[in-house]
Amino acid sequence: MTKIMAQNQPHFLLITFPAQGHINPAFQFAKRLLMLGVKVTFATTVSAHRKMTKAGRVPNSFNFALFSDGFDDGFDLKLHDITFFMGQIRTRGAQSLKQTIVSNTENGTPITCLVYTLLLPWAGEVARDLHVPSALLWIQPASVFRVYYYYFHGYDKLIGDDCNEPSWSIQVPGLPLLKSRDLPSFCLPTNTYDFILPLFKEQLDMLDSVDKPNILFNSFDALEEEALKEINDKINMIAVGPLIPSAFLDAKDSSDESFGGDMFEKSKEYVEWMNTKPKGSIVYISFGSIIMLSNKQKKAMAQGLLACGRPFLWVIRDEDSHTKGDKPEEEEKEEKEDSNCLEQLEQLGLIVPWCSQLEVLSHPSLGCFVTHCGWNSTLESIVCGVPVVAFPQWTDQSTNSKLIEDVWGTGMRVSANEDGIVESEEITRCIEVVMGGNEKGAEMRKNGMKWKDLATYAMKESGSSYMNLKKFVELVNVSSTQDKNRDHE
Ligand code: UDP
Repeated sequence: MTKIMAQNQPHFLLITFPAQGHINPAFQFAKRLLMLGVKVTFATTVSAHRKMTKAGRVPNSFNFALFSDGFDDGFDLKLHDITFFMGQIRTRGAQSLKQTIVSNTENGTPITCLVYTLLLPWAGEVARDLHVPSALLWIQPASVFRVYYYYFHGYDKLIGDDCNEPSWSIQVPGLPLLKSRDLPSFCLPTNTYDFILPLFKEQLDMLDSVDKPNILFNSFDALEEEALKEINDKINMIAVGPLIPSAFLDAKDSSDESFGGDMFEKSKEYVEWMNTKPKGSIVYISFGSIIMLSNKQKKAMAQGLLACGRPFLWVIRDEDSHTKGDKPEEEEKEEKEDSNCLEQLEQLGLIVPWCSQLEVLSHPSLGCFVTHCGWNSTLESIVCGVPVVAFPQWTDQSTNSKLIEDVWGTGMRVSANEDGIVESEEITRCIEVVMGGNEKGAEMRKNGMKWKDLATYAMKESGSSYMNLKKFVELVNVSSTQDKNRDHE
């Protein structure tokens, strides 16, 4: 592997939002930089650092610049005020970033580039004010970036209250025709998360204020060929993914298994259990690190799984079951009545609070992934060649589902009833299509293998994402050396 000469060694400062879906790709991105010989300082919150060290996979060569966002035990959407939290992380994070940049300059290890993930537009502003080159690491698909880009460049006016009409659709340049159910939920009139759109707008305004900004994507050229094209000659789109542990892709770093996987588990009994099942027989169900299904939806899922009769591994996070304690008595009673169902479930499959998802997805016994289509989970399904039942809930997940079903052909999307519940019959139907012996399922599995090969190839030394990242690092290095020379003249 080509490493950059030590005397010209670039120094990247990387900052990530403290959510699992942000930490995982940022961490993998940092590891890729290290492999290229880049010095990396990783700025994040105390809570995110705890999540990383609990997983026990932090390389010694990582240099951390930690700051407290005031929520060192982690932020909980159910318990804490999100607006207050976002204010705290902004004020404290910006202050810490400034200090890190200034002290590294004073110590003779100047930051040559600041890379920041989603929801932190203020990080780009800090870099701009201190004249440090920066790049946004967009941890959702390029297609979703396009939707937001055009949304804030006039397309918001095209998405009115009539968007749920069956005849309604929108053509975003570089994307397939989208219905309202395919758009990121924050762009719909029904969005209730008021703090999100202003943050995205601030991010796009920031990018508009810079000449030809670079955006790095956790994606790869073959996967989003059209969506990754430059936007109006204004935005440079660089795909550097899939940002997945190397062991599951190109195996460059053998110590690098499933980051995030060991976090809550004491043993891997579920892997032993999987070992006993036939090839391609298990249904894996997980909704990521944030979403919690309602009891009604969980019940429908349980009944759907029972009707399939296939072995399953279902992740129900601990905090998910803790919500039970807050429920009125009748609901508690109802849940007890459901214990019959639980007994039946236990005979068929396993319910775990967390697992090493990549290990599960790459296990030969796995047959299909029922997923909320978070972007990391989606990419992980692609890397492992696993067909999916797409069960989107919010944010970019609906757009990801559209791509899975209609563009990549690696899965099938569920339909919800009028109350937003996906009924058990629908769950069974979709699992059977994806796993069954029919033509559609076979096609999905075939497509899955095709994308798996392309994803693996993108990260190889001659692959598109590897070359894109190398070129980007060299470009940043050349421009920072030129800046240094100018300062000396
Ligand atoms: N994950 C995991 N074990 C689990 C559930 C999730 O390792 O039991 C990981 C998963 O592999 C992915 C991340 O958590 O890397 C979830 O990110 P995603 O973008 O899919 O969803 P989010 O949590 O952001 O909704």
